[in-house]
Parts: sequence; structure tokens; C-alpha cells
Amino acid sequence: MSLAIDDIKNIGVIGAGQMGSGIAQVAALAGYEVMLEDVNAKALDTAVANINKNLERQVARGKLGEEEKNAALRRIRTGSDFKPLTECDVVIEAATEREELKRDIFVKLVPALNDHAIVASNTSSISITRLAASTDRPARFIGMHFMNPVPAMQLVELIRGIATDETTFQTIRALALKLGKTPVAAEDFPAFIVNRILLPMINEAVYTLYEGVGTVEAIDTAMKLGAHHPMGPLELADFIGLDTCLAVMQVLHEGLADSKYRPCPLLVKYVEAGWLGRKSGRGFYDYRGEKPVPTR
Ligand code: NAD
Repeated sequence: MSLAIDDIKNIGVIGAGQMGSGIAQVAALAGYEVMLEDVNAKALDTAVANINKNLERQVARGKLGEEEKNAALRRIRTGSDFKPLTECDVVIEAATEREELKRDIFVKLVPALNDHAIVASNTSSISITRLAASTDRPARFIGMHFMNPVPAMQLVELIRGIATDETTFQTIRALALKLGKTPVAAEDFPAFIVNRILLPMINEAVYTLYEGVGTVEAIDTAMKLGAHHPMGPLELADFIGLDTCLAVMQVLHEGLADSKYRPCPLLVKYVEAGWLGRKSGRGFYDYRGEKPVPTR
């Protein structure tokens, strides 16, 4: 059975980190019932608290009514057991950027799924065709790559795997539009479009720091004022998460076998230290005080 946009009522989201919580928020605001899943109970609590805070901010700005906010919050349920995903028409996977981990999720997810359900992955870089092959439904599997922060960013990249069927593509395209986003189609090559271009620039900024060409502050200021970027590349790396940045560079390096994608050793060192950027309180900047302070 194939699924049309109007058949979609329930959306599952796996992974309640920065991306999963943002996807849950926009889906609930658009009127969908959302089942948000994570292995980590604390991540679920933080996600719900952040969604609450974001919606309250929208109410304070007069962009959302109090009742709409409460209704959206009521539409979000949380859990750490795949069983409730049985009711879902679409499940969006937004867990940590590690292929093995995502494959394990799909293997466990498949027995819980409805026959008609579409599975989408929010992966930043991993092959959709390969991920689809660890499910029983490569025809109903697709890349749906949201940008961070999800509520604010307009773009969603849509990536067909080799077996993705046209109905799945069109249904997910219509879903992206219903969520208020603008979809762009990208082919299934490592890191797709945005990250194929953006991450090598961030990696180069880390090399620039590593080689002592500039300090954190000099590099970010130079790119903000010199290239008109709203955020400096190191600030942006902290915002994305340095583990995610490294994972994307590794996928580019392995997938395209070109030394120009070699992850900077300094990026590796930060990740090994657990300095993952904003989400862990420290990265190229230290966020634990009142104002971010460069760490180099
Ligand atoms: P994050 O570290 O904030 O969140 C990942 C979440 O996945 C964590 O809460 C973790 O507990 C959970 N998780 C890990 N294993 C799990 C499992 N087996 N089952 C359920 N949940 C599990 O990471 P993020 O930034 O939200 O990234 C998530 C995905 O979105 C990645 O694939 C990443 O590449 C992609 N993405 C990230 C960005 C970005 O800017 N950060 C942008 C677009 C896409």
C-alpha cells in the first residue's frame, strides 16, 4: 500500500537531540501526533523542556496562541521503546551520526512498523541506499535532511536511495511543504549538497586554527566581516556539534577517497576530549559562563 500526504497523521521521531526535538516541534505545530523516542531519558526531558521554552517564546512574541501551544505540546508523546511506533505513518530517524548505530535502529524498528509506513533518515552524510538496505522497505525509505535549528531553517534536502519509489518521494516532499519547509532534491552522494560544501569549509577553518594562521576569534571575525557569513565557521561548528562535523568529514573522506577531505587532527582532538560544542558546554568556545569564551 502506498501512502498519500493526507493519510499521514502520526509521525515518529527517533533521537531527541538538537535535530529530533526540532523536528518534533515543527511536526506537532503542523498538527501531527508525534511519538518522540530516545534511548536516553534525560535527552527526552531536555527535548520536551526545550520545545516548551521555544513555544513559550513564540507566544510571548505574539506568533502563537496559548491554546495552540498547549495543543501542540499535548500532541507530543515520548518513549524509549519502539512499540508505539506501530501507529506511525512516517518515522524520521534523527539519532547520532554513526552508520552502525543507525543500522541497529532500523533492524529493531522494522518489526514494529506498519506495512505502509515510510522511513526517513535525517542523516547529514551517510548513504541513503546503504541505510535503506538494512530495512525491509528500501522503496519506502528516503533521506529527509533538515537543517539546524529546525524551527528556524527553511531548507529540507530530500535524497532518494537507489530504490526509493516516486510515491514516497512525492509524499515526503508534500510533508516537507506541510511543515513549512522548502524541499530541494539531492542525489545520494556523500554529504549531499549543503554539507558537501559547508563541512570542508568548516574543516578548513579548523586547519587554519591548527596551523596558527589565526585565533578562534580572528577566524570567525574574518569570515563574518569578510565573507558576510552570519556566523563564523568555528562558531557554526560548535553549533552543529563537533562529533557530527567529524563524522561528516569521515564520510566524505572515505566515500570520495580524496585527501582534500582529511579531517583536521585538531577537530579529532576536540571530539576525543568530549568538547563537542554547544551541546556539551565546550568546543571552540567555552559556553559555561555568561558569554562564550574562545578555547584557543
Ligand atoms: P544529538 O547528539 O543532539 O542527538 C542525537 C540523539 O540520538 C541523542 O539524544 C542520543 O541519545 C540519541 N540516540 C543515540 N542512539 C540512539 C538509539 N539507538 N535510539 C534512539 N536514540 C538514540 O545530535 P543531532 O545534532 O540532533 O544529530 C542527529 C542527526 O541529525 C545526525 O544524523 C546528524 O548528522 C543529523 N543532522 C544534524 C545537524 C546539526 O547541525 N547538528 C543538521 C542536520 C542533520
